[in-house]
Amino acid sequence: MNILFASSEVAPFAKTGGLGDVSASLPKALNEIGCSLSVIMPFYKSVKNLGLNLTPFTIEGFNFLSTYAGGEPLSTRQAGALGARHGADDINYVFVVNDEYYDRDNLYSDGNGEYKDNGLRFSYFSRAVLSFAINSDFKPDIIHCNDWHAGLVCLYAKLRNTGIETLFTIHNIGYQGLFPKALFDKLCIPRRFFKVNDILHHGKISFLKAGIIHSSAISTVSNGYRKEILTPAFGCGMDAILRRHASRIYGIVNGVDYSEWDPKTDKRIACNYGPENIDRKTGCKKDLIESTGLPPETMERPVVGMISRLAYQKGVDLIAGTAKDIIDLGASIVILGIGDDKYNNLFKDIAGRHPGYISSHIVFDDSLAHKIEAGSDIFVMPSRYEPCGLNQLYSLRYGTLPVVRATGGLDDTIIDLYADKERGNGIKFSGATKKDLIEAIARAVELYKNKELWQDVTKRIMNLDFSWRTSALQYKRLYEKMLNSPR
Ligand code: ADP
Repeated sequence: MNILFASSEVAPFAKTGGLGDVSASLPKALNEIGCSLSVIMPFYKSVKNLGLNLTPFTIEGFNFLSTYAGGEPLSTRQAGALGARHGADDINYVFVVNDEYYDRDNLYSDGNGEYKDNGLRFSYFSRAVLSFAINSDFKPDIIHCNDWHAGLVCLYAKLRNTGIETLFTIHNIGYQGLFPKALFDKLCIPRRFFKVNDILHHGKISFLKAGIIHSSAISTVSNGYRKEILTPAFGCGMDAILRRHASRIYGIVNGVDYSEWDPKTDKRIACNYGPENIDRKTGCKKDLIESTGLPPETMERPVVGMISRLAYQKGVDLIAGTAKDIIDLGASIVILGIGDDKYNNLFKDIAGRHPGYISSHIVFDDSLAHKIEAGSDIFVMPSRYEPCGLNQLYSLRYGTLPVVRATGGLDDTIIDLYADKERGNGIKFSGATKKDLIEAIARAVELYKNKELWQDVTKRIMNLDFSWRTSALQYKRLYEKMLNSPR
């Protein structure tokens, strides 16, 4: 089975969040169970900077879609691509080249907000994906399209009657690829699609909706989130349309790439350790404390870590609002995140107000993320909604107790220790309130004080297996189902 995996982010080439992790590790896991994979993404500046050894080629047939009335013609000069085999895996990586669109410092926005031409940038990407699918030697059976950036691929594939099935995976329904109606004339799509029960959504064009409506099947990244997005409370205005398509929506939980996230082999942390020598984790704590400027006495306190996009979705305001209470419980805090300016400033300010107890890092820093997973005692995720969440799974492997809000993938993967002593693997709270959060952290701190119990629990959670294999098999079965009963 040939799968063309289309994503805007693939680590280590480009990553702003979990999409980058999943698009790096799921293709590898699918490859290991017998699927043949090509991964296609934009040739961003971050990819360019890696100086990979790439073979340039032209994506043929790139112009076909401009034959529709009003379509923006694309010159063959623009329609470039670079291909490469990368690393030890057997995956072919294809990068869509258009320096005007992708050779920028960030993926989606700069200090002035979202890039104004994001609609053009990702419709271009989607056309390139389909042209590659049709004209390259790879001949995919399925195009696996991820998030709104690749939503139009599903519509273009249908328009062209390619016979190639498309799976559209929603990693976060909050990001819908919404653009002004005026963009329509540049998308190379016939007029009949310009209507409310198609890609129009409250007066805008939505690339996400194109993916939902025109794909052969839809998936999302946990079962819990699958159920949630069908409701008005979590559907971000897309719940009605999703309910109409509910019979072809599947929930498949994300996994962890343990070749990247395992303290036994992690090269970015100070001491490697496993459940058999968990005492070595102290070396990572010491290193974290030193490198984040916290005083040596912090070794005696539980360190609460957080790595997050600083967005309302993530409940970061709840952390900010309880920072003093967390310190009063006897804990110290290390925060790594970047996002909305108001939260960037808030966390800088909070660290300034509690010197010696809070260390905040308003950057994107992959190495520090690994150090925090290894060096913290407790990891906190107070998300208002969380499609899957990865850091709670990373925390388990690093013996760092996750404290999470019971929503989406967090609810699916974490079992509360106080509710189930045998199977419990973290602390869970239900309300998105400061009160519920601080009570949950207090429970974790209480447990931390019982050294013997703490060691038993942290050793046990390190042995849990959230690798990709089971989920990759579920994707493979879904692909087979799509091919056996074409839409
Ligand atoms: P989301 O995709 O909603 O941002 P996930 O939990 O699915 O959340 O994935 C987040 C990923 O991004 C994790 O690998 C996390 O470590 C990483 N990450 C988030 N913020 C930062 C940051 N500021 N620096 C480094 N890594 C980060």
